[in-house]
Amino acid sequence: MKNKAVFIDRDGVINKNLFDETAGIKSPSKPSEFVLLPGVAQAIKTLKKAGLKIVIVSNQPGVAFGYIKDSMLNEITKKMNSKIKVDAVYYCKHHPSYTGECECRKPKEGLLKKAAKELGIDISKSYAVGDNLIDIEAGKKCKKTFLVAFNFDTINQIKAKGVKADYYVHNLHEAAKIIEKLEVG
Ligand SMILES: [Mg+2]
Ligand SMILES: [Zn+2]
Repeated sequence: MKNKAVFIDRDGVINKNLFDETAGIKSPSKPSEFVLLPGVAQAIKTLKKAGLKIVIVSNQPGVAFGYIKDSMLNEITKKMNSKIKVDAVYYCKHHPSYTGECECRKPKEGLLKKAAKELGIDISKSYAVGDNLIDIEAGKKCKKTFLVAFNFDTINQIKAKGVKADYYVHNLHEAAKIIEKLEVG
């Protein structure tokens, strides 16, 4: 039997987004900038208990820009894994302007497909959680999609773009509770 997974976006779902006056939202570029969001550790436990693989799928174009060093990204991944033990982490380190088009940058499904192949996951029985419309788009073949949004503005912006998530939640913990109900009853 194939595995079921939760494909989870990293920045803004697992860890806090960083804000910069000029760059806007940016990803952590060193471990000290990686701060877990509240309730995440508990949520991961809940999802694992429900029998799901935890797969992080994240765009990290900062690597293509040279803003994030590959070695630092590895250190950040280590820090994440020391706090929440996940089954696998897949990054897209590309950006069209710097490295050309790739098959893995969300909203494309490449990261999910690669994970599915390597870990024997049935995408149609899996879930996707993210804080951006590209995460919902990339997870459209999943059983259910969850948009993490802190405010109605974000939800309305996303709805205006025609992307519909199955659920709108405030955080990963809320998503995990719903997934647990769907899986375990
Ligand atoms: Mg995000
Ligand atoms: Zn890529």
